[in-house]
Amino acid sequence: MSLEKYQQKRRFQGTPEPPAEDGRAKRKPSSLIFVVQKHRATQLHYDFRLEWNGVLLSWAVPKGPSLDPAVKRLAMQVEDHPVEYATFEGVIPAGEYGGGTVMVWDKGTWEPEQPDPDEAFKKGDLKFTLRGKKLTGSWVLVRTRGFGGSSGRSSWLLIKHRDRYASRKDIAQQEPFSIVTGRSLEQIARAEGGDVEKAATGDPVLMEKREKAGRRPAKSSRRSP
Ligand code: MN
Repeated sequence: MSLEKYQQKRRFQGTPEPPAEDGRAKRKPSSLIFVVQKHRATQLHYDFRLEWNGVLLSWAVPKGPSLDPAVKRLAMQVEDHPVEYATFEGVIPAGEYGGGTVMVWDKGTWEPEQPDPDEAFKKGDLKFTLRGKKLTGSWVLVRTRGFGGSSGRSSWLLIKHRDRYASRKDIAQQEPFSIVTGRSLEQIARAEGGDVEKAATGDPVLMEKREKAGRRPAKSSRRSP
């Protein structure tokens, strides 16, 4: 695990994303963080990241996570990211790597369910528990064959395990806002000088209509009264 690829792919004078120059986080974490960043780049996808060995192991999930155990979501493994990346919400300028709007869609902590997570990751069968606001309970990432050989990326499936947090609720559609700021992709793009029209295509259709009718989406309800 290394941040070399992360560093090589980006020009840090051109993007507000955090550089990897500090290397791995030196703290010995008492809990491991996870984050899901909704990213309206060339294609809309959800970047699913788990802190491990001082970096964020990362997968791009085109359709986003599903709470339904019957639904397997393709997750392409991408380069490790610095731990500091977990708080990044904003705009990567057009023309830069991953250019587009980024939202912190969910975040929290995670815990491996296997005694040797390094071995589980290597084998391509990583079981874990999430404690986020939108994603909770038991999940698995399973590496699949085929796909991605030439691009150097491996394809995995992200699957919810059956437990009391499993549900048929379409979480990506029904809870589309930033877990940190309550903003839609369109609002992030507007506030931070991004491509507003393009960002809006990553927001649910119903919401676009609501916004055009002059109403703003509800702010995050996580403030104290
Ligand atoms: Mn991405």
